Amino acid sequence: MTLQSGQMPIAVDNWGILLCPICNFEYTHHSRIEIFDRGLIDDYVKEGLHVVVDECGKSDNDKVHGKKTVVVNDDVSDNPSGRRNGLRINFWCENGEHHSQLVIAQQKGCTHIYWEKLFE
Ligand SMILES: [Zn+2]
Repeated sequence: MTLQSGQMPIAVDNWGILLCPICNFEYTHHSRIEIFDRGLIDDYVKEGLHVVVDECGKSDNDKVHGKKTVVVNDDVSDNPSGRRNGLRINFWCENGEHHSQLVIAQQKGCTHIYWEKLFE
């Protein structure tokens, strides 16, 4: 699997700090987290477990720390992996408030990690 349009490789500094994919700034923050667990089901069945941890009523633009919520459902349609498990972690950067999504996706026994830009 190669990076597709809109996907960017991750970069860390010499201390292992994950850098913003837009400006390489070190000060980034997690927000919404999504877990996609396909489990041991048929490769072509789009079912599984989807867990979302987010702040209640907040969008990606909001930096106010609100009450955390957890939503669990079986909608894995946005799973970054077509056949296995995946993770999406939203980040925002203090330098210009860039918004990106760190993606971890399994593909044929390999684990891919890359950024997807949400907006600048
Ligand atoms: Zn940035």
